[in-house]
Amino acid sequence: MSEQPTRNAAQLTLVAPRRAKPQRHLADLTMAERRAAVAELGEKPFRADQLSRHYFAKLTASPDQMTDLPGETRERLVSQLMPSLLTPVREITCDDGMTRKTLWKLFDGSLVESVLMRYTDRVTMCVSSQAGCGMNCPFCATGQAGLTRNMSTGEIVEQVVAGARALAAGEVPGGPGRVSNIVFMGMGEPMANYKAVIGAVHRLVDPSPEGLGISARGVTVSTVGLVPAIEKLAGEGLPVTLAVSLHAPDDELRDTLVPINTRWKVAEVLGAAWDYAARTKRRVSIEYALIKDINDQEWRADLLGRLLKGKLAHVNLIPLNPTPGSKWTASRPEDERAFVRRLESHGVAVTVRDTRGREIDGACGQLAAASPQS
Ligand code: SAH
Repeated sequence: MSEQPTRNAAQLTLVAPRRAKPQRHLADLTMAERRAAVAELGEKPFRADQLSRHYFAKLTASPDQMTDLPGETRERLVSQLMPSLLTPVREITCDDGMTRKTLWKLFDGSLVESVLMRYTDRVTMCVSSQAGCGMNCPFCATGQAGLTRNMSTGEIVEQVVAGARALAAGEVPGGPGRVSNIVFMGMGEPMANYKAVIGAVHRLVDPSPEGLGISARGVTVSTVGLVPAIEKLAGEGLPVTLAVSLHAPDDELRDTLVPINTRWKVAEVLGAAWDYAARTKRRVSIEYALIKDINDQEWRADLLGRLLKGKLAHVNLIPLNPTPGSKWTASRPEDERAFVRRLESHGVAVTVRDTRGREIDGACGQLAAASPQS
């Protein structure tokens, strides 16, 4: 008999603790703000365009390569606007180098992780938006550690730029490449760090050299279901894909698996998701980790199918990845197959997500920034 989850909504942390902020970075700023910042430092505003071209277009890693900037100017601008925000602590790879997880140390010692996954037709980066997470989902390793602090826009963007540099330099097997997709599915709840995440999405999708010029269609923001934030996101004019971590179609079970459900119920979360789909014309991704004997019953597949029938939605089933301290495991293959069939019988599109990075604890829910020695 599997142990049933218990209620733990008391430990939800919606507002991040106030902590010292990382240094300001070019990637925190819009182009207009960059020009103003450069002018404040006593330099000509066009220097902001040069810096932007280096950072976002050429992915220049070393100031020595910025030969279009005179020495003293370069030093001042780089130290003030391009500080190093992430220090790599450890890198682990699997899938012949096509999946790589990086553990980063932030300026205050906080640890976060990002994962780069190369496929034949695309490169997806999974990025963190908070150091830790306050949502306390009992099956997720990040949730168990609690929330340390929000990440800045610059810290979020730097994860992608680091991956883009590694790809451009041919450090990832398969030849030089580019980042095509970003998923906000690393550590943290992106919608609980709204402003920094929206800033980061802008830097990712704004045309080069203002941003990285990645297609908004390739960007997915995943949330436990912070309804007011989903509503706000729908009005940003940023047609990113919304993913909702549902994991249960009924409030009774979802209250225990995704504790924020005690605040915003399944019906409210899905209501916000359908509004999002209507306004952005983007298909919403419904994330559902299949947990043996907990949420994988056929009747729950039926209930989910009825909720999603006819909606602009797609279900992503994730076989539960093991996490320390959790007794739960992935569903039996036959139960997974039955779950898929039931959903499909309602005309709902379903895929079972591959579990890239599982052996390096880089898969969904396994990012916990274990001590660097481990
Ligand atoms: N906080 C956001 C972003 C994290 S995304 C969110 O929850 O949506 C990480 C995804 O992996 C979420 O869908 C999450 O529910 C799922 N997940 C967490 N732990 C998991 C585990 N052990 N196995 C499989 N999926 C897991």
